[in-house]
Amino acid sequence: MNILSYMETYGHEQLAVWTDKEAGLRAFIAVHDTTLGPSLGGVRVWAHPTEEAALTDVLRLSRAMTYKSAAAGLHFGGGKGLIMADRTQKTEAMMRSFGRFVESLGGRYLTTEDVGMTSQDLEWIAQSTKHVTGLPVSQGGSGDTSPMTGFGIYTAMRACAREKWGSDGLGGRTIAIQGFGNTATWLVRNLQEHGEEVKLVITDINDAARERARQVKNATVVGPDQIYDTPCDVFAPCALGGILNDDTIPRLKCQIVCGAANNQLLTLEHGDALQKRGILYAPDYVVNAGGVINVSCEVDSRYSEQAAREKTARIYDTMQRVFGTSKRDGISTARAADRLAEERIASVRRVRRVHMGKA
Ligand code: NAD
Repeated sequence: MNILSYMETYGHEQLAVWTDKEAGLRAFIAVHDTTLGPSLGGVRVWAHPTEEAALTDVLRLSRAMTYKSAAAGLHFGGGKGLIMADRTQKTEAMMRSFGRFVESLGGRYLTTEDVGMTSQDLEWIAQSTKHVTGLPVSQGGSGDTSPMTGFGIYTAMRACAREKWGSDGLGGRTIAIQGFGNTATWLVRNLQEHGEEVKLVITDINDAARERARQVKNATVVGPDQIYDTPCDVFAPCALGGILNDDTIPRLKCQIVCGAANNQLLTLEHGDALQKRGILYAPDYVVNAGGVINVSCEVDSRYSEQAAREKTARIYDTMQRVFGTSKRDGISTARAADRLAEERIASVRRVRRVHMGKA
């Protein structure tokens, strides 16, 4: 991989590398774009087989964060951290060292939890840097992001229902859920709390999760592969990325796809394929922005769940703008979301240039 060309092509500002042999740390931080504000994104702990695989991952994930924050109307750019280790190798020394790495960037990157991290790890990082968010509630932070992500998925689903069926109520509809983990559980809780009498079809690869799903009112549990063939109104992918692809799209028997998983489309062209089949696709990073909105509310001021909820509720309006752009420009909803995010960044960049006397 030619890193500099890759970064130029995809608009990355910075890639930082850190080693600390004593602490057993090898890490990268990618800052994609800071036009809207300091870059924000979690740090992932993952034992990539090669440095190249780790670099590709951190660069790709940092760019996705730029789009997510821009589409959510946040004043943050996109960044991501990556610790090349297995989660079993984590130590306090390693996390404190990563904190020093974050601190060395002087606030250009704000870190938070991602795959392979726990709130304890984040607390250790916070010993070495103030550029941390998403700390536990006991530390004055915003805590677990899943409840807000679940509320965001429910909000996006209502916007989809209005677009597809003319009313945002979901009562009487069948929702097929792939992966019954944190976000899906909070989605179901939101449906129940809002009195939506839906039928649920749930799958998971984990026995305990399937057993939990069996206890949910109006829920049927199916095998992991059956979920793609399940007749339903809404398919909610809440597990893995890349699951909307050449094999699965022809099998889907739904009218809407709206779920929490990141990078659901294997490629952008799969968004076009869904559109061709008449399936309304809710762009994943718009749908699942509740988590980043929640942690962003901890940065500027004292965290308030009410404020985070109000901002997350705006996902409804963002979805409507995505649908409007998709229809106006004759493009898929996936491309429309990208366009909205890019337009926002470009307009702020233009204003900044004018202020700096460059235009
Ligand atoms: P989780 O680990 O709590 O739940 C995922 C569930 O999916 C697990 O129960 C797992 O067993 C199941 N699963 C894995 N592979 C599967 C498969 N092939 N078929 C069926 N089930 C499978 O994770 P989560 O926090 O609910 O996150 C789900 C997705 O949403 C992830 O892609 C995550 O990146 C994304 N996301 C989460 C948040 C958040 O706030 N937690 C925010 C934004 C995006």
